[in-house]
Amino acid sequence: MYISDTIAAISTAVGEGGIGIIRLSGPEAIEIANQIFQGQVGDLKEVESYSAHYGNIINPTNKEVIDEVITLVMKEPKTYTKEDVVEIDCHGGSVVTHKILEIVIEAGARLAEPGEFSKRAFLNGRIDLAQAEAVIDLINSQTETALKAALNQLEGGLSKQVNQIRDNLIELLANLEATIDFPEDEIKGFSSAEIEAKLNLLEEKIDDLLATSKKGKIIKEGIKTAIIGRPNVGKSSLLNALLREKRAIVTDIPGTTRDVIEEVINIDGIPVKIIDTAGIREAADEVEKIGVERTQKALSEAGLVLLVIDINEGITKEDKKLMEKIKNKKSVVIANKVDLEQQLFDFKAVKSILPDKEIVKTSAIEKEGIEKLEEVISNLVISGGVKGEESALITNVRHKNALKRAKNFINDSKQTFNKGLANDFITIDLRSALEALGEITGDSIDEDIIDRIFADFCLGK
Ligand code: GDP
Repeated sequence: MYISDTIAAISTAVGEGGIGIIRLSGPEAIEIANQIFQGQVGDLKEVESYSAHYGNIINPTNKEVIDEVITLVMKEPKTYTKEDVVEIDCHGGSVVTHKILEIVIEAGARLAEPGEFSKRAFLNGRIDLAQAEAVIDLINSQTETALKAALNQLEGGLSKQVNQIRDNLIELLANLEATIDFPEDEIKGFSSAEIEAKLNLLEEKIDDLLATSKKGKIIKEGIKTAIIGRPNVGKSSLLNALLREKRAIVTDIPGTTRDVIEEVINIDGIPVKIIDTAGIREAADEVEKIGVERTQKALSEAGLVLLVIDINEGITKEDKKLMEKIKNKKSVVIANKVDLEQQLFDFKAVKSILPDKEIVKTSAIEKEGIEKLEEVISNLVISGGVKGEESALITNVRHKNALKRAKNFINDSKQTFNKGLANDFITIDLRSALEALGEITGDSIDEDIIDRIFADFCLGK
């Protein structure tokens, strides 16, 4: 096991809260707790693992009582870090938690670096690198679907799939290398047809995983969406209708270019990020003045466009212009205000410009067609929806790049093989592919990359 000192950090969020938790991990964790904790239970070294004890935290130098706490003792190896772990549940608030952390440090612990608890879990072999990375994703999840993907990864779903590919690769490598090293022995090497089939299968499996990265990215990061249309067609009302759905989440994310609040709608687990809501919400005449430029900007940023048309007004020149602009974009046409009687909407005209786009009829005011619209959006953004997910999802760019590299090496080895070159040339590329795959789970990776990954964690995790 990785030999280490004892680390400590405040593991609860900064600021005031009902409780605060100070976490210690390492060989001296229980001894340090003993020095500062006074309770009926006596020596914490004697207590059962995973037991909780009531008592006081005292300053060992002047015996002053700092707080009334519950101390949780977890003994190695069945803990988060595989080391002895102690958690002190104290009253929340930054003064108390910092004071306790201070005396924990005075008693011999070292202040933990960001992500150091999870790094120890990785270094001590409790979880692999992909699982450790899932911990950050779990904390940062914006929707339940993102949470589910992170949990699957934390439980080893992705690692299992990657390891299966690695096993197949190792089998092939071992066979090829055996025939190189002991050519005169009677080792039965794979036939050319077998080698070819195995290389193809490897590539296919990597492709299958890579194919999930589009979906994974959207679930994790969301899709930027522009709601466009002439003034008064109902863009703002539609946005409100979408936001008012009970499963809608509204988060405030500071805009990147200026102080705009970005609104995020959870549609079927997809974080749909509405661009330029300020523009949408402005009065109609204002929009007319600066609308063109704004629409253009929103369009250029958007991964998804919702074009709203007033079903009662027929198709105007301006509508047509907007339609032309979204031809090559992932987009939906919304025929709004179906609750009104006079319906001049010309479906044929829309279809002639946008033959492949779905047209959804809505009434933003009466909340009609909103569910249908959500369904269309969900299918459009992630074909097949996000439910019933069995395979792991690639949500992490680092994993995606490693897979891409592995695929390239497999491809190189296929070319070498097709040229009829000797087996040693094939194995060089296969070894590189193996290494690239190993980076995902952390089996083969540089220390500084590991450091960088854990540095992105929050303190105390
Ligand atoms: P925007 O300028 O495109 O954002 O349009 P608004 O959402 O501000 O709506 C313009 C006007 O149309 C308002 O008076 C809305 O109440 C009305 N409106 C919007 N959607 C509907 C709808 O579905 N039915 C009816 N009858 N009126 C609507």
